[in-house]
Amino acid sequence: MTTDNKQSELRQQVRKWLASNTPKAWRETMTGVDQQVFVAAQQAWFKNLVAEGYATPHWPAGYHGGGRSLAEQQVIYEEIARADAPRLIMYFVSLYHAACTLIECGTKEQQEKYLPGILNGEIWCQGFSEPNAGSDLASLKTKAERRGDKYIINGQKIWSTMGQYADRCLLLARSDNTGVPQAGLTYLLLDMKAKGVSVRPIHQITGDDEFAEIFFDDVEVDIADRVGEEGQGWAIAQTTLASERGLTLVELSQRMRHKMPLLVETLKQQGLSSNQALQKDLAKVIAKVDACCAVADQYLLKRITHTEGVGDASIVKLFYARTLRDFVSLGRDCAGLDGQYFTDCVRGATQETGLWMLDFMNSYNWSIAGGSDEIQRNIIAERMLGMPREPKQWTTK
Ligand SMILES: Cc1cc2nc3c(=O)[nH]c(=O)nc-3n(C[C@H](O)[C@H](O)[C@H](O)COP(=O)(O)OP(=O)(O)OC[C@H]3O[C@@H](n4cnc5c(N)ncnc54)[C@H](O)[C@@H]3O)c2cc1C
Repeated sequence: MTTDNKQSELRQQVRKWLASNTPKAWRETMTGVDQQVFVAAQQAWFKNLVAEGYATPHWPAGYHGGGRSLAEQQVIYEEIARADAPRLIMYFVSLYHAACTLIECGTKEQQEKYLPGILNGEIWCQGFSEPNAGSDLASLKTKAERRGDKYIINGQKIWSTMGQYADRCLLLARSDNTGVPQAGLTYLLLDMKAKGVSVRPIHQITGDDEFAEIFFDDVEVDIADRVGEEGQGWAIAQTTLASERGLTLVELSQRMRHKMPLLVETLKQQGLSSNQALQKDLAKVIAKVDACCAVADQYLLKRITHTEGVGDASIVKLFYARTLRDFVSLGRDCAGLDGQYFTDCVRGATQETGLWMLDFMNSYNWSIAGGSDEIQRNIIAERMLGMPREPKQWTTK
């Protein structure tokens, strides 16, 4: 069978499966619902997608669902976007951040211990940011003190996505205070059910509570749950951040492309379809979204061929965040009064629901999460293009 035939067969398979398995009318049923209802829906959808191998096409060969070529991954993401299936927001840290870090940097024992748990629905969160350490991540203060074969953790994290539901945490903590800040960081896998962990959800302007603060009070982590050596945490964290900045966005760019009709529909509804200025804006957004998918795909190809360079993931992240903002801003501008007020949040949706004020507010997520736009620009300028570094009082993620 030729490659084209194989892809078209896969497309038919995925499309058929999605047609009978995508939760029906989920946007309606997930609008304004309680988090617990949302959690149950996510668990069921996760189980289904994982069983079929469609949640892990980005995992390497030899792992469940993994080893897919660039073209196959594109097909799967395109079809999921076309079917407008819910996003696995409760699980993306597990499937991308945790899995990619374990596969690239974990020991065989750690992979065997934790990857099956991810496929069985264990939820991971990322504990990097602190109240005074976001962009300047290297200044973080949560302490990991070595006592025999354990680390004792004390401190606080903030903005941990889905932290209140997490079973485990990718923790970046300070094991040494001497020397350059980056060199004193250690990367640990922490059990969120361990004694001394407490979690407080953060309520957002949209009515959602996607994030949590996490407090650690003498929490014990076994030395076997350290990724890499003591003091290597900064380098390991770059692997986690690259999966967040680049890989996740391959799927989200496709979803944005398939949501383009929302913009066209909004123009129609408002009787603005023949407005030439708006037609021009629409054309620009369409071109940018297509370019965004191409940039994300190119990044995926680099991952598959192991040719990824410093800053490649930052380009995807920055371009996606800016394109998304243009997309939803145009929707908000065209929607008249409807675009000016906020109704309810749709849980499990991406940033393009057609509830334009909600989408506009949510679009800021991607300009901040995983390092702000300004930080991505710094990385691209300084580390890729070799431009002069910014003045010393700033440090960057
Ligand atoms: C949707 C979302 C999900 C997130 N999920 C997680 C998660 O799961 N786990 C986690 O650990 N964190 C998470 N975060 C936190 C995120 O990583 C931080 O918010 C981000 O790194 C920015 O840090 P900060 O909020 O402390 O802002 P600050 O670092 O205080 O930045 C404030 C402003 O100053 C600008 N700035 C800062 N330094 C510079 C500089 N050197 N040059 C130019 N401008 C600069 C920034 O761009 C920003 O506009 C999430 C955030 C969001 C929005």
